[in-house]
Amino acid sequence: MFPETRLRRNRYDRRIRELTAESRILTDRLVMPVFIDESLKGRKGIDSMPGIYRYGMDSIGDYARHLDELGISAILLFGIPEDKDELGSSSYDPDGVIQKSIKILKENYSGIIITDLCMCEYTSHGHCGIIRNGVIDNDSTIEAYGKIAVTYAESGADIIAPSGMMDGQVRAIRNALDTNGFQEIPIMSYSAKYASLLYGPFREAADSKPSFGDRKTHQMNPRNYREAMREIDLDVKEGADIVMVKPALFYLDVLTRARQFFDLPIAAYGVSGEYSMIANAVDKGLLQKEVIDEYIQSVFRAGADIFITYFAESYVSNVKR
Ligand SMILES: [Zn+2]
Repeated sequence: MFPETRLRRNRYDRRIRELTAESRILTDRLVMPVFIDESLKGRKGIDSMPGIYRYGMDSIGDYARHLDELGISAILLFGIPEDKDELGSSSYDPDGVIQKSIKILKENYSGIIITDLCMCEYTSHGHCGIIRNGVIDNDSTIEAYGKIAVTYAESGADIIAPSGMMDGQVRAIRNALDTNGFQEIPIMSYSAKYASLLYGPFREAADSKPSFGDRKTHQMNPRNYREAMREIDLDVKEGADIVMVKPALFYLDVLTRARQFFDLPIAAYGVSGEYSMIANAVDKGLLQKEVIDEYIQSVFRAGADIFITYFAESYVSNVKR
């Protein structure tokens, strides 16, 4: 109690504040999302996300080399294919945009290549799976997910990250990988992925807006957080090696609860809307640039081991400078 105890003693000196900090940002825990557009030449900016681009197949090698030189330790790939159809068949084409890109990346990038795995960028209707009678058919969709995973592993992906929120997707992918000789490839599962409005800018970036309906039949209800523990628990039992909470900022409570319940590595995904809010506010001078550090810090403090963020590239390059 006061006056013996004075908590400010640890705060007067900047060096002591540093010494007693309870959490810190480790740059090798930051993952940079990368959009690859099969029909694009060069790169194209994303209006709502200042500093973030889609890359064509001709420019992805150079960009990857740049990330490698910066020391970005992992990238998460999203593909925008030239061809889309009802069944999303370009997603498991061995010559698909991601499959071809991984081969280019392998020659230019020494970090970890994580592939997002879903069908919404590949289907003509923009849904995350195969539609039957107007709804996504869970069981045929997870079978397709298994096929996609094998082609990604064959192309050289280091980690497979299913984001479709189908029931049983981790098990289906684990089985497909194992029966094709890829027992050693980890699965990072988007376990607690919410039906959030914060994905808006991403859908512009990845060209994946559903042509009818929404994603509320598979993504989680933002009002729930006990259910998130059930989702994570099932993914662990199905063989997930890393689990994820997405988005990060509005769901830090979910992250903290997951940290208390589970011992495996937990990733958080700071989605496009989070980036857009903060980056645009900083650009306009409404917030100081250092707010980005506070934002990233909040996610690690809440319990994340790994943070997927569009700020990864700029943050790491600022630290290196
Ligand atoms: Zn999807």
